[in-house]
Amino acid sequence: MDHWLEGRIVEKHQWTDKLFTLRIDAPISSFKPGQFVRIALDIGGERIARPYSCVNTPEESYLEIYYNTVDGGPLTSALLSVNVGDKIWVARHASGFFTLDEVPDAENLWMISSGTGLGVFLCLLKTKTAWERFRNIRLIHAVRYPKELTYGETIQGIKSAHPQCFDYIPFVSREKVPDVLEGRIPQAIEDGRLEDRAGIKLEPDTSQVMICGNQDMISDTSEILKNRGFRRNRRRNPGHITTEKYW
Ligand SMILES: Cc1cc2nc3c(=O)[nH]c(=O)nc-3n(C[C@H](O)[C@H](O)[C@H](O)COP(=O)(O)OP(=O)(O)OC[C@H]3O[C@@H](n4cnc5c(N)ncnc54)[C@H](O)[C@@H]3O)c2cc1C
Repeated sequence: MDHWLEGRIVEKHQWTDKLFTLRIDAPISSFKPGQFVRIALDIGGERIARPYSCVNTPEESYLEIYYNTVDGGPLTSALLSVNVGDKIWVARHASGFFTLDEVPDAENLWMISSGTGLGVFLCLLKTKTAWERFRNIRLIHAVRYPKELTYGETIQGIKSAHPQCFDYIPFVSREKVPDVLEGRIPQAIEDGRLEDRAGIKLEPDTSQVMICGNQDMISDTSEILKNRGFRRNRRRNPGHITTEKYW
């Protein structure tokens, strides 16, 4: 069977000059929440493909991806000019291990994201499993500017559905914003601001941490957590930190 499916863009939402959500009609195979699909365009006679986490759950009828344009990036530059009705290649099968079945049980689940790393967590938060397995869930989203704090309505919906168990903790690094934590996540863990805001303890006996976004944020956050006794989660040696690196 052909690896690529011809999808069709059914919605394009522009959040900022660089941040976009695409909804695509493409009958991909069943997948696990937390997995990614490869998306491609034919550019200059070459098929350029990149992975994107699914923001939609397997039950939703469309595929949704959330991404930012990267200066000089081949695919995201080309995605600037795609529109509703255009065709786009989508790999038939999703893959990846950033799924809840890879995360050991715990009382608290911390979902730590930077930038478009938010999307994969929205997918996981739409599942029943997340709420059946963890008593408290905290979604942390770090961006540079307040306009990059996207998906507000979706997050508000999750908050309303799970008022006792869920909280959303935004971070903005380059502006001061009321009710939003300043600076970077690793520092806020180190100086206790994140736990104060979350109202729960970030300790290995009770917590699992999933981290998604850029390499620097993932490695700096992981280092701070390791100093507190957290270990990387591996199938053969379960720990507490599960990561997905976008770049
Ligand atoms: C498993 C996986 C899942 C991913 N899921 C997503 C997703 O859901 N949303 C998303 O936006 N991206 C995601 N990415 C990154 C994505 O695949 C592309 O790399 C990105 O969209 C840029 O594509 P490009 O062809 O324009 O540039 P590329 O040729 O891929 O990258 C050009 C340069 O930009 C850097 N870069 C890559 N992504 C970014 C970024 N977001 N911001 C700044 N610099 C970047 C790269 O390190 C490289 O140096 C994922 C990556 C992986 C490995």
